[in-house]
Formats: sequence, structure tokens, C-alpha cells
Amino acid sequence: MIACSDARIDPQTIFDAAPGDLFVIRNVAGLVPPYAPDGGCHGTSAALEYAVKILKVRRIVVLGHAKCDGVHALIHGPLRNARDFLDPWMDIAEPVMWPMPEPDSGGALEMAVEDAVLALSLSNLRTFPWIRDGETAGHLALTAWRFDISTGELRTT
Ligand SMILES: [Zn+2]
Repeated sequence: MIACSDARIDPQTIFDAAPGDLFVIRNVAGLVPPYAPDGGCHGTSAALEYAVKILKVRRIVVLGHAKCDGVHALIHGPLRNARDFLDPWMDIAEPVMWPMPEPDSGGALEMAVEDAVLALSLSNLRTFPWIRDGETAGHLALTAWRFDISTGELRTT
């Protein structure tokens, strides 16, 4: 499970999971970067490789959430005084802003962007050859879910 670092989004609590039930990767905005085996320090990609190749997980869930500060920064501008690593990290999600996602009927812009970020992360998961191959072979399922902090609602995107 890939989730945001936001303290309000704890997958173990949301899913009432016991220790050992979930392999969880958390980062700012719960993003999946594209496959880039360039020798850099890619913590999320390393954890994905461990989960898929060593643990042989059967499902990868990208868990987005409402009121995400990372998504807020995408729409309204970067967080000041925190740009050494945050700006390049959030650049992963920048493509969802070209063009700006259209809110669906009754939907808010932030929700539309949150859904677009989840779709981008699913798309980026498929750039990893061993994830794409696992999905194609039917060994690995990819899913995106969105959790609403204020209502407790969990839904697929
Ligand atoms: Zn967040």
C-alpha cells in the first residue's frame, strides 16, 4: 500500500490491520515516481521492488486522501521554505496540471486533482517492467482508493 505521510492517513488504522498484514510505503502525497533505474536514491521505488520481487505481493493499492497538503501545493503553489526536496518530489505529479483537471458535476477542483494524481500514480506503477509484467500475467492487481478524512468514506477511483 502506498499512502501519504499525512498523520491522519494511517493505513493500519483505516483497515484495522494487524502487524504483518500490510507492507506500507508512505511519502508526501502518496506518489509513485516513474521507473528510473539511474543509481539515485529512490526510496519509494526500492520499497516497491522489495514488495514485488521479494515479498511477492499480489495487490498494490495507491491510497489517496482528501485535503492532501501535497495536492493543495500542486494547485496553489509550492510550500515556502521547504523546497530542497519537496519541489522536485512534487514535480512527479505536475503533469496532472496540464491541463488543469475539470471538476466533475458537483465535485471540487481539489478532489479532481486528487483523483488525477491517483491515476498518474497507477500509470507510473505500470512503467516498472516487473509490475507491468505481473499485472499482464494476472499475478498482480493495481488499485487506487481514496479516503475522505472528514467522512471516513473510502472509495475506488
Ligand atoms: Zn496527503
